[in-house]
Amino acid sequence: MNYLIKNATLVNEGQTFEASVFVSDGKIAKIIKAGEDFDTGSAQVIDARGKYLIPGVIDEHVHFREPGLTYKADIFTESRAAVAGGVTSFMDMPNTIPPTTNQELLQEKFDLAAEKSLANYSFYLGATNDNLAEIAKTDPKKVCGIKLFLGSSTGNMLVDKSDALERIFKEAPCLIAAHCEDEEIIRHNSELYEEMVSREITEPKVHLHPKIRSEMACYLSSSKAVDLALETNAKLHVLHLSTEKELDLFRNDIPLEDKKITAETCPHYLRFSDEDYRKRKFSIKCNPAIKAEKNKVALMEAIQNGLIDTIGSDHAPHRRNEKYTGNYFTSKSGFASIQHSLEVMLEWVHQDELTFTQVVQLMCHNPAILYQIDRRGFIREGYHADLALVDMSEKHLISTANEFTKCHWTPYKREWMRSRVTHTFVNGNLVYENGEFIEGNTGERLIFNR
Ligand SMILES: [Zn+2]
Repeated sequence: MNYLIKNATLVNEGQTFEASVFVSDGKIAKIIKAGEDFDTGSAQVIDARGKYLIPGVIDEHVHFREPGLTYKADIFTESRAAVAGGVTSFMDMPNTIPPTTNQELLQEKFDLAAEKSLANYSFYLGATNDNLAEIAKTDPKKVCGIKLFLGSSTGNMLVDKSDALERIFKEAPCLIAAHCEDEEIIRHNSELYEEMVSREITEPKVHLHPKIRSEMACYLSSSKAVDLALETNAKLHVLHLSTEKELDLFRNDIPLEDKKITAETCPHYLRFSDEDYRKRKFSIKCNPAIKAEKNKVALMEAIQNGLIDTIGSDHAPHRRNEKYTGNYFTSKSGFASIQHSLEVMLEWVHQDELTFTQVVQLMCHNPAILYQIDRRGFIREGYHADLALVDMSEKHLISTANEFTKCHWTPYKREWMRSRVTHTFVNGNLVYENGEFIEGNTGERLIFNR
């Protein structure tokens, strides 16, 4: 079907302007400026007056839990939550069961997504101490990147042998996305606080989380990754920055296209600080930990001045009872967030901390530039019609009733948001409209111009 998205305010490539967009054959066929005449035939008209049209969000960092952990989440349910939040493409992490550490398992994920994902997709191959041959086989045109858990507690994917690390950096055929936390420091701190945190969950000590997964644990690990990337000339994307100190490792004096070393942060590191543990307890336990207030302030400055390149949701759903069973050590880290990452970021637009064009840059354009995604991430004629329509004056309360993730909860529950996605198009298909899904079309595999 063809669509005419009529009289919208486009937010695209640093500009905000009135236009209509004609969508035909899955592509953005024509951007019709106000006052311009263009015959759109019998296209279905979507009245977008008063709303903002943006390129669909590209979320480079999600954990959809399939295969193996589908009691928490799966590609079908989480891709629904994604499109409800204006996310039209996602890149999923390899810490599933089994972990995605060879080409065969990687292909199985692509096959699953082809069957049931509402959004466009790609999957990372996970690096281990001994799968270099599999890494080398990765097709950089068809796979988003290599995920490296550099000293984190994620199953057998912890790469801790220095010769293996060096070879991964030297030989990876595409971008390396790294989770950086130093395991030795975390182990040491865990022992230090063990007595205090391993008591019953009724006496939660979650505020010790940033003391155990400390600023130093992040800095040591990410600086090691950056040093290795500099030595080997690898393309390194450091995920989920959570500290002020790590910002020294990144640059804002070269265009993103030319950067070899880049950084991501997530909405929760900008919204929460260690003060929030008192009220929110284990619901905001995640890795890396949410840390002291000064980090939150510094991270916001860094996204304003270009030291941080992208925003990923790190959508990592768990059932709520998995967060509140046992003690500090057994409480799962991570939470569902993909449905709300855009609206949370738009709160800073309402507060004049960020501009709408900056949010679009961080969540739509920059992931497309960084990963060199083929014809997505911008509203341009000839590009795939991945679009989200946003109402900036639809104040609403986040509640379980409108939560589409399989686990049906998020730490943003009971928060007021002032913006809402009303329509989402994936490849020119309207897949989401005001709380309803229009199924029947699946997303496409992302292609990378490398
Ligand atoms: Zn993650």
